[in-house]
Amino acid sequence: MNWFGKNHRPMPWKGEKNPYLIWLSEIILQQTRVAQGLPYFERFKAAYPTITDLANAPEDEILKLWEGLGYYSRARNLHFTAKDIRDNYEGVFPTEYADILKLKGVGTYTAAAISSFAYGLPYAVLDGNVFRVLSRYFGIKEPIDTTAGKKLFTKLSQELLAKKRPADYNQAIMDFGATQCVPANPACKSCPMIQSCVAHQENLISQLPVKSKKLKKRSRFFHYLIINHGNQIWIRKRTQKDIWQGLYDFPLLETDQLLDRNKLEKTTEYQQIIPSEGVISQVSVPFTQQLTHQKINALFVEVTVPNFPGEIPQEWIAVARKDLKNYAFPRIIDLYLQDKSLYLNF
Ligand code: SF4
Repeated sequence: MNWFGKNHRPMPWKGEKNPYLIWLSEIILQQTRVAQGLPYFERFKAAYPTITDLANAPEDEILKLWEGLGYYSRARNLHFTAKDIRDNYEGVFPTEYADILKLKGVGTYTAAAISSFAYGLPYAVLDGNVFRVLSRYFGIKEPIDTTAGKKLFTKLSQELLAKKRPADYNQAIMDFGATQCVPANPACKSCPMIQSCVAHQENLISQLPVKSKKLKKRSRFFHYLIINHGNQIWIRKRTQKDIWQGLYDFPLLETDQLLDRNKLEKTTEYQQIIPSEGVISQVSVPFTQQLTHQKINALFVEVTVPNFPGEIPQEWIAVARKDLKNYAFPRIIDLYLQDKSLYLNF
């Protein structure tokens, strides 16, 4: 906390006591860097000054405002929770840790952050920064991603908490992890705890914290059909239980590898969607997007279709190309829409 007095990072939400704004900033910052999340926080705060404003907003509008930030379940949970608080807590953010923890999208870390920052309740935060600082300082080799490891670190961080100043303590240890005891090359030389840090003394810094599981990533291969029909393009809302639920995309063929134009045209799925008069005018270069557990590879296939003999699926929506910007798309589609030079020559 002495270190924090001299080194804290100024942030617009620091010292904030409004639980709604703390919650908003915490959800935005989950899996997002501060520099990237900051403009989104400002935008949400301006668009929805209160939690009831957020609850009353249409989901499409929220997803559009969230566009580019990724992990869209956060935006949907944000909306769900705002409505939950409007309907079940008379629009007032709950004040007890146990109630805060019950909110959708709020885990123990976020509940502790809101409880301590907004209400001064004695709950210690445990995020990636805290795991790193504690595992190094105490030389703890227990993996941080096991039930036993989480229990051990939770107990330790709760014991260490400065119970009379939980907000300062929590902010201090997170800032310390984010700026001093960073993952690679921590600034040990200027660290006030160098004399008692086990990892430093025993040369364990690069090995701590320990993780037991390595994430398995799978690759997926998408062929988006950009169906030009008259002056319009067909899009659809993703409703299935999969990535990007609630966002929009184009009719999609998923295969186990990327197909060239000839192979694509021969697939039954393509023929089921595109009538025989449909003509592929161009195919994009492959685009990729890395998600936590998946790597998405996508080709964008522009097809001109004079008319549809059969029935058009109910979920498709015809949109003028210039109006596509009004819909929230996954990042990979935004990249494609922004860069029209990336076409393969066929
Ligand atoms: S001495 Fe180095 S590893 Fe130990 S707490 Fe300080 S910055 Fe982290």
